[in-house]
Amino acid sequence: MASKKLITVFGATGAQGGAVVRALLQNQSFAVRAVTRNLDGNGARELKKLKAEVVKGDTDDKDGVKKVLSGAFGCFLVTNFLEHFDMNREIQQGKNVADACKAAGIKHLVFSGLDNTEGSGAAGPVHHFDGKAKIEDYIEQIGISYTSTRVSFYNENFLNFNPSTEDGRK
Ligand code: NAP
Repeated sequence: MASKKLITVFGATGAQGGAVVRALLQNQSFAVRAVTRNLDGNGARELKKLKAEVVKGDTDDKDGVKKVLSGAFGCFLVTNFLEHFDMNREIQQGKNVADACKAAGIKHLVFSGLDNTEGSGAAGPVHHFDGKAKIEDYIEQIGISYTSTRVSFYNENFLNFNPSTEDGRK
């Protein structure tokens, strides 16, 4: 049997990328290369148990991301604004991966995007949306085949971000 097409998944130890890795492995049509900055972490260990190829990569590292995309058919990218709250850094991280996808000849990129709120009448800038919209514009501009998803507010946020009511009960 021909070897399976390879999908490189960024954010593989997290909520979105982790779900993508699990779904792809369950489907059995693709091989998965899971990217993390910490090969010794619990997240990496769990992914290895699932039989993903786990590799070190950092979206801040322009040259490094080229290596993790080498030989891949497709890519899933989620950028994590919530780690640094810096829109320009998030945009650069997205561009680094988009450029590497282009250079590696990736056939399709799935990007976890959000809508551009500029000019929408939103009360102020919504940086975690607008940065992703700018990454999407860049992907379009450099001519990669892509799908941009729109993930809504997670149900898990009620547990993770604001676990307590005013009187301290969950
Ligand atoms: P998460 O569960 O917190 O996990 C973050 C993932 O990003 C980890 O796998 C981490 O990998 C990876 N990562 C972070 N910085 C990286 C870097 N420089 N290079 C490589 N990997 C990096 O995150 P998530 O919830 O899946 O995704 C967060 C994004 O979702 C945010 O941008 C947020 O705006 C967006 N979003 C959130 C919601 C919501 O309701 N929370 C809704 C829509 C969109 P390692 O630590 O293993 O390296």
